[in-house]
Amino acid sequence: MVKILGILVFLLSIQHFTTYAQLKVTPMPDDARVTEIDIYFIKKVYEVARKASERNYPYGALLVHEGKIIATYGNKVKETGDVTMHAETGLLSYASKEFGPQILANSTLYTSTEPCIMCSGAIYWANIRKIVYGTTELQARLLFDPDAKKRLISSREAFNTIRPDVEIIGPVSEEEGLLIHEIFSRRK
Ligand SMILES: [Zn+2]
Repeated sequence: MVKILGILVFLLSIQHFTTYAQLKVTPMPDDARVTEIDIYFIKKVYEVARKASERNYPYGALLVHEGKIIATYGNKVKETGDVTMHAETGLLSYASKEFGPQILANSTLYTSTEPCIMCSGAIYWANIRKIVYGTTELQARLLFDPDAKKRLISSREAFNTIRPDVEIIGPVSEEEGLLIHEIFSRRK
């Protein structure tokens, strides 16, 4: 029995190594400020991204207020043909109509991949003060574009200028998020 378990653990470790080795970038360690609660919600938002990837692009977002998920949104760009329907913009389009500014200001936005520049603008206008992202936007882009760095303004750079008091935490469980992008690209 112990022997069988040993073989199983060995096989699982090979499988893990294989998947990891297929990534063209090395996942970054978690942000030092991340909490168990953040990890819990990032796992949830990765599920939303996986679901979105069935019909759209592999991105998800959640809004959490007082420990509860009050809104969930997956990317809808493909099915709507609307390029503004990223996970974060879709989420905030709904949430800003549904909830008052006070609730938004006291909520945390969890997103599977670091917000792009368009979504950073929407987060600014929605008055969200805390963002937790899973996968770094640059890391996700580097999977497919070695020159991605030249074409990117990160959300941290944007918020440093437009609103430095917004707290941004990430990456969190980045390997899992990068694999979602990698698997999605292989299916195309
Ligand atoms: Zn975006």
